[in-house]
Amino acid sequence: MRKIDTQCCIAGGGPAGLMLGYLLARNGVEVVVLEKHADFLRDFRGDTIHPSTLEIMHELGLSEALLALPHDEVRSLAIRVEDTDYALADFSALPVHHKFIAFMPQWDFLNFIAERAAAFPNFSLEMEAEATELSVEAGRIIGLRAAGADGPLEIRADLVVGADGRHSTTRSSAGLRSIELGVPIDVLWMRISKQADDPSQALARIAGGHMLVMIDRGTYWQCAFVIPKGALAQLRARGIDALRQEIAGIAPFTGARLGELETWDDISLLTVLVDRLRHWYRPGFLCIGDAAHAMSPIGGVGINLAIQDAVAAANILLAPLRAGEDLGPYLAKVQRRRAWPARGTQFLQIMIQNNLIAPAVTGGAAIKPPLAFRLLNRWPSLRRIPGRLIGLGLRPEHIR
Ligand SMILES: Cc1cc2nc3c(=O)[nH]c(=O)nc-3n(C[C@H](O)[C@H](O)[C@H](O)COP(=O)(O)OP(=O)(O)OC[C@H]3O[C@@H](n4cnc5c(N)ncnc54)[C@H](O)[C@@H]3O)c2cc1C
Repeated sequence: MRKIDTQCCIAGGGPAGLMLGYLLARNGVEVVVLEKHADFLRDFRGDTIHPSTLEIMHELGLSEALLALPHDEVRSLAIRVEDTDYALADFSALPVHHKFIAFMPQWDFLNFIAERAAAFPNFSLEMEAEATELSVEAGRIIGLRAAGADGPLEIRADLVVGADGRHSTTRSSAGLRSIELGVPIDVLWMRISKQADDPSQALARIAGGHMLVMIDRGTYWQCAFVIPKGALAQLRARGIDALRQEIAGIAPFTGARLGELETWDDISLLTVLVDRLRHWYRPGFLCIGDAAHAMSPIGGVGINLAIQDAVAAANILLAPLRAGEDLGPYLAKVQRRRAWPARGTQFLQIMIQNNLIAPAVTGGAAIKPPLAFRLLNRWPSLRRIPGRLIGLGLRPEHIR
């Protein structure tokens, strides 16, 4: 068994884990990040980098290099309901340096952070290393055990961070309890190739009892088709052709290309889950990102929140970690700082899910656009409010 002693061990190389690892390593803390996969190439991740994350990258002096990678800049958001486009959010007035959402494959973003972090000798990233359980001594978490690429790993650390996402092993191992907030929808995730005369930007569409979101990934559209929770079995019973027709009805330009969805193997079910922990920490252990509060895809803000948690955790924990102080009061401080932005965002997501998206995909009929859409469409200055909520979120963090 390989043994490692470090100051901070982070389980999970997603946005939360890698950003926290980078920030701590940049400030001299010894960090080991464990990622259970062999690479970051997974197509079920969101692709959005919001203005508040870009601002953090700017504060770190990294935004120019990041934005040199291929990306799309989305300065406003719109939705098509039946045959009408509604402009919903405008980022142009945000008080930040990059007033847009950058759509970039998340693996490019994660590789970028991992490469920058690797420049610090006190940072180490163990790929294909899956945290399996926490090590506890006298009621305190003193490290974790993991299954590594070359065999078992035992890591001792002053602080263990669970950034291992919505199905967090570390939070279960710590015995932390979550509150599940009901979600009426799931998402079918699939690729459809792109053609030169397709619409130029990602757009959410609601029509005829269905909802489709298309993310531009250069040569193909990453599509999210929203279904009522648990409806996949019914859909499968009707056959894949019925699904193709539903997609063609909502995005007619995809037409003949829908034959690319040959079997159900070309379609993944992404279960939407919204939950949050009552307590994010135990002595020696802290959860951040989806491990502390799993986010719905609505607004595409989960990555952003995960990064904000990482920045707040680094701001609060850096000095006591370096000084070898008791971290107890500081872990509570991280939860106090980040719990309400997570709760507030989940509240908004659930309101939109229950009042707009669930009715749009369960009734099988055309829906009337909500009054808010009509107001936003009519008065452009109002679009700054959703622009701020989506682009910066509640309580944006800054690098200290
Ligand atoms: C269908 C869907 C679409 C979404 N689209 C968007 C979007 O467009 N924009 C957006 O902002 N948010 C989106 N979200 C939400 C977003 O994906 C999450 O909120 C965000 O990824 C959370 O980041 P994280 O770092 O906390 O966790 P994750 O991104 O889940 O990262 C956790 C990492 O830990 C690794 N891991 C897991 N278990 C272990 C273990 N035991 N040991 C070691 N490593 C482990 C995983 O492989 C993963 O790399 C979407 C969610 C869903 C369900």
